[in-house]
Amino acid sequence: MTMNTVLRKELFNLPDGVIYLDGNSLGPLPASALARATKTIGEEWGQELIRAWNSAGWMSLPQRVGDKIAQLIGAPAGSVTTGDTLSIKVYQAVAAALKMRPDRKVILSDNGNFPSDLYMVGGLIDTISSGHRLLTPSPDQVADHIDETVAVVMLTQVDYRTGRLHDMHAITRKAQEAGAVVIWDLAHSAGAVPLDLTGCGAEFAVGCSYKYLNGGPGAPAFIYVRPDVIESIEPALAGWMGHDAPFGMELAYRPAMSIERLRVGTPAIVQLSILDEALEVWNGVEMSDIRKASITLSEMFIAGVESRCPGLKLASPRQSDIRGSQVSFAFEHGYAAIQALIDHGVIGDFRAPDIMRFGFCPLYIGEDDVTNAVEIVAKVINDGLWDDPKYKKKLAVT
Ligand SMILES: *Cc1c(COP(=O)(O)O)cnc(C)c1O
Repeated sequence: MTMNTVLRKELFNLPDGVIYLDGNSLGPLPASALARATKTIGEEWGQELIRAWNSAGWMSLPQRVGDKIAQLIGAPAGSVTTGDTLSIKVYQAVAAALKMRPDRKVILSDNGNFPSDLYMVGGLIDTISSGHRLLTPSPDQVADHIDETVAVVMLTQVDYRTGRLHDMHAITRKAQEAGAVVIWDLAHSAGAVPLDLTGCGAEFAVGCSYKYLNGGPGAPAFIYVRPDVIESIEPALAGWMGHDAPFGMELAYRPAMSIERLRVGTPAIVQLSILDEALEVWNGVEMSDIRKASITLSEMFIAGVESRCPGLKLASPRQSDIRGSQVSFAFEHGYAAIQALIDHGVIGDFRAPDIMRFGFCPLYIGEDDVTNAVEIVAKVINDGLWDDPKYKKKLAVT
């Protein structure tokens, strides 16, 4: 009997013989998304041609998809738009946030943040060339670095390597009391943990949609802005799709009086329609049930791997309330071990220098999958199956 009440494997096309523990990096294909892509390409683009911007509602698709994501992250309709990539959305959020605190020069993040987020901030600092500084203390020291010099606190809630969870509400409160603007990156949170952006009060949130939201490789990112500040933020990337009247073709930029001011250029309609369809799998699913099931699966996996493979060291927090929906183990030969696991039907991934990462999405992972995965991990590690030259050759994507 399964305790996982949110399991809906039939909604996904998963290959036979694969236990997919990498939905935290690239979610699997929702079955209906294939038909939707065919419709968007064949009927809408193929038959309607340019008329589809109106007749198929392409123009408003970024907003409609944004509203669906809003429901999953505890945000109101009209506060989220979609497009571009997460790196771009990080740039937009930080640039807009800095303009809200022109007298302050510090951007506070942490050294567990995803490199692209930090690189985007570095590039922005160079571009504006006004003496801003990026601070990256260790995650547990972030709160201690919040003071009146900080313009922006930009953090990723769930650490991509370890799965450690920041306390969004506490950090936001502390930052805002010190007068800082807060940006949360929800890349590993949206679709994984219950979120309450309205209650949290952060000014900005960003995230991607190809991880737990199953929008497919390169699916558009999302950005949330707290409704009371939307109309005052100044977009750094002033593209025509964020203009108040994109087809007015005015020479001067005038931002839309809505979240649409954070749109940039022409949306990727095929990918966006796939995401729109992928978000249907969440109908009738409570995030609290997802969370409960993901904790059960994660604990099963941790207990199983620790009892069978003493050589693997848990790199995620042991306490489930400060761990996202992934479990990481440190192992010196982690890269080869992941390659061997993939070869034996368990797909996880590797993050340098030594992290083996496994994601647990209860929409398509059941307890029997975890039991089977533990058996295979034990075999690959304890029988030394990883110790084969063919598993040690570094591929471009790990
Ligand atoms: C996955 C991820 C990214 C990736 O950004 P893209 O622009 O979509 O490639 C960025 N930041 C974080 C925190 C991530 O987890």
